[in-house]
This record gives sequence, C-alpha cells and structure tokens, in this order.
Amino acid sequence: MILTVTLNPSIDVSYPLDHLKIDTVNRVKNVRKTAGGKGLNVSRVIHMLNHDLTATGFIGGYFGKWLENQLDRDGIARDFLPIDAETRSSIAMLHDGGKQTEILEAGPTIAPEDAQKFLDHFDKLLDQADLVTISGSMPQGLPEDYYTQMIANADAKSVKVLLDTSGATLKSALEAPVKPLLIKPNEEELAGLLNRKVDKTDYAALKQDLMDPIFDGVDWIVVSLGSAGAFVKHQNKFYHAAIPKIQVVNPVGSGDSTLAGLAMGIHDGKSDEDILKTAMTTGMLNTMEAETGFVNPAKFDTYFAKVTIENY
Ligand code: ADP
Repeated sequence: MILTVTLNPSIDVSYPLDHLKIDTVNRVKNVRKTAGGKGLNVSRVIHMLNHDLTATGFIGGYFGKWLENQLDRDGIARDFLPIDAETRSSIAMLHDGGKQTEILEAGPTIAPEDAQKFLDHFDKLLDQADLVTISGSMPQGLPEDYYTQMIANADAKSVKVLLDTSGATLKSALEAPVKPLLIKPNEEELAGLLNRKVDKTDYAALKQDLMDPIFDGVDWIVVSLGSAGAFVKHQNKFYHAAIPKIQVVNPVGSGDSTLAGLAMGIHDGKSDEDILKTAMTTGMLNTMEAETGFVNPAKFDTYFAKVTIENY
C-alpha cells in the first residue's frame, strides 16, 4: 500500500460570499467542511482511483475525531497518532468574483515525546508500505529535519519517499545524506531553492536549473507548471508533459492530485511516460471539480490520452 503522511491535517472550511465585508458581520449559507491538509487531498485521490493506502499523521481532540469520521465515511484507511491538542481548522472565503481570502491556523505544537512516538508509529507502518508520500508543512514543535529523519527511517526499510514540501524543510531534506525519491517544486519553490529567479516558460533554462548540484541524488524532480503541465527530470532524462486546454473550476489541490498520480504510477511500476501522464491527468481532473482533492475516475482515460510527453 501507499502510506500518505499529513503531519498537520486540518478541517478545511469554505465560505462562499458574494462580497466580503470588513469590520462587520458576513452571513454565509453554503458552508462546506472537508478533511484537509495536503496529504489528505493526496489520500482522497489515491482512494478514488482504487489504490490501497493508509493515511497517517498527528490527530487530536474533537476536531480530530470529526476528521477521522470523514475518512471512515469515505472508506479511506487511516492510522494516525492521537495527541492531546485539537486538530486545526483552515478557513477559505471565496468572494468578490474569484478572490480567495484564507485564515490558516498554525495548529497544535507537537511535544517532544509525541514527536518520538510518531517516529516509532511511522516505523511500524513502514513494514506494510511500498511507497510513502509526505505532504505539506510541519506542525510547530518539530525540528526542521524531522522529514529527513522519516526519509532515513523509510530508506532503512527500503521504502522510497515522495516529498512535497517547501522552504527550510525541503532544503533540509535535500542537504541530508539520504534523499527523497521525488520532489515536486512549483516555480516559486524552485526559485526559493536556487536563490534566483526562475523562468517557467524557458525549458532550456529549467533544464539547467534542475542540473544544479543541490538536486544530486534525487531521482525525480517534477516542476508543475499549472496550465503548461510540468517540466521533469528523471535521473538523466528530461521531459515536458504537455496538457490540453481544459475548463478549470477550482485549481486548489491540483498539485496534491499530481503527487497522488505520481505515487500511483511509480507504485505500479509504470514507464516514465505513463507515470507522467497519470500525474497530469489527476492534476487536470482535480481542477475540473469544485471540491479540493477530488477527481472523477470516469474521465480518467479520456484525459490520459490527451497528455503528450516530449523528451527534452
Ligand atoms: P501546485 O498546486 O503545486 O502549484 P500546479 O498549479 O502547477 O501545482 O498544478 C499541478 C497540475 O495540475 C499541473 O501540472 C496540471 O496537470 C494541473 N493543472 C493545474 N492548473 C491547471 C490549469 N489551469 N489547466 C490545466 N491543468 C492544470
């Protein structure tokens, strides 16, 4: 099975408002609450495409129970480490014709004994895992190299890790002796890693960027480019994955859906071309739905056939 890690899950609350009024009351009727945190989006997409998975991370309090109930309702297997502090909520207000204002709680602070407990818990789960995805930022209280420790533990059991995070956490993972199998930076994250501007329309320059020594030892680098698809390095091969023009309903979570596609393709031992086609398809299908981390499996084959992979 694929083990998906969401260390800081969240109840994602969406408030659609015609107009957001400041310093007064806003009333909202159509509230939507979903199990969120990037790793849970990944989990949902993997589940919808009929692959075995277990979702793990820290979970706490009544909000944590609500979240677990949602996963049970959806039939998503889970094995979280319970902690005392409440799981967070994240609020997104969709207003004024396409604007999105978010209020994101930092979430619980993980105590050192819980940090250790989770590493032991993760170790046990690794015995049943073929592949691991780690998504998102870390909760407070964990050291910067916590993902790095997890990647080393996975490596000790010959389990590969796909890592989708950013900033200092990603940097730390790239500097460690044991690397993730795959990272999935977007343009902004790539620029942050290289400490210089990146032009996502110039594939020759992107190719040079991905040859930077900071990426040595990382098998796959998938730079997602929104409507332009993705630019990819796999060992010493480079690809541009091109996607058709589609009707976008809600692009939030498309990067997570892409990671889900990459995980399934790699897990199934597919060719590079089919791994990337799967990932582009899951990304696209997510953008075509209102719900975040949601794909319609009935559309999979049609869109898969429309993705083209060019060697670069
Ligand atoms: P992130 O959410 O990590 O920034 P992207 O926005 O690059 O990721 O989207 C990830 C993938 O989702 C893309 O590679 C593509 O397959 C799909 N996607 C995202 N936005 C669009 C769009 N506007 N049109 C078509 N596909 C899209």
